[in-house]
Amino acid sequence: MADLGAIVRDIAEEMRALPDKGKVADYIPALAGIAPDRFGMAAVMADGTCHKAGDADVPFSIQSISKVFALTMALGAVGDALWQRVGREPSGSAFNSIVQLESEHGIPRNPFINAGAIVVSDILLGRYEPREAIGEMLRFVRALAGDDSIVVDEDVARGEQETGYRNMALANYMRAFGNIRHPVEKVLGLYFHQCALAMSCRQLALAGRYLMARGQNPDTGRSVVSPQRARRINALMLTCGHYDGSGEFAFRTGLPGKSGVGGGILAIAPGVASIAVWAPGLNERGNSLAGTLALERLVQATGWSVFEPG
Ligand code: GLN
Repeated sequence: MADLGAIVRDIAEEMRALPDKGKVADYIPALAGIAPDRFGMAAVMADGTCHKAGDADVPFSIQSISKVFALTMALGAVGDALWQRVGREPSGSAFNSIVQLESEHGIPRNPFINAGAIVVSDILLGRYEPREAIGEMLRFVRALAGDDSIVVDEDVARGEQETGYRNMALANYMRAFGNIRHPVEKVLGLYFHQCALAMSCRQLALAGRYLMARGQNPDTGRSVVSPQRARRINALMLTCGHYDGSGEFAFRTGLPGKSGVGGGILAIAPGVASIAVWAPGLNERGNSLAGTLALERLVQATGWSVFEPG
């Protein structure tokens, strides 16, 4: 096998030199102020080795990547009953689209678009008090990453709250169909705070290990989810993790992945590695431009796609 450390470092160097790095999200000041030339990458292998490069230890706003952890917790809380309230189909629409909710009676297409994640937050509030819920999520990602220093960026959370009109519209619209059951402010309070989790590539790749390892946390050997559930979450990441850019991401990388508007992507090579990249410049679908290219390069160099025999 090629020298993975060198591969990751070469990719970081190539990404730093990219002339067009996309457009940094600017809907809140806390994101608009991030330098577009940031780039970090970390790959944690099945044996625990971590290969990293660039800004791999700099925390950034994980935004929609948190939808993977929230879904995992909500499935733990209510099991497959969750699928009565959230679908499992790619939407082919923007991350914050409302259009399909009308014909589909308030049932969002999948848990990785905003509408779906807002229902997942509502489901979590059936299990935890609003005050406890974000603390529980923090405890969950800290345990997955084996790192108690992970925090919520309150500046980002405040910005989300102040500008979240579309998310409020989505939540209110779904409430009208009975698919949001707690007060909208409480549901969104949780959603905005989970979006504001700040994690580095290394922390994120560590937190994603259970999806590489048949549902087990390699630190403790304990089951986070069953192997079947890990497989299903990976399947949803592959088909829905990049909104209306999901087909393109799967085509280019062949890996399950979840993006966030902060420029992060968590990608899983089952049995092999959990990988996180961060490059804040986005493409026209709101997914990290250099992050996607970096993962494409990694798969070209390693053959880690789920569609290539190991
Ligand atoms: N906080 C963002 C929103 O709800 C998250 C979206 C994203 O990462 N794509 O609009």
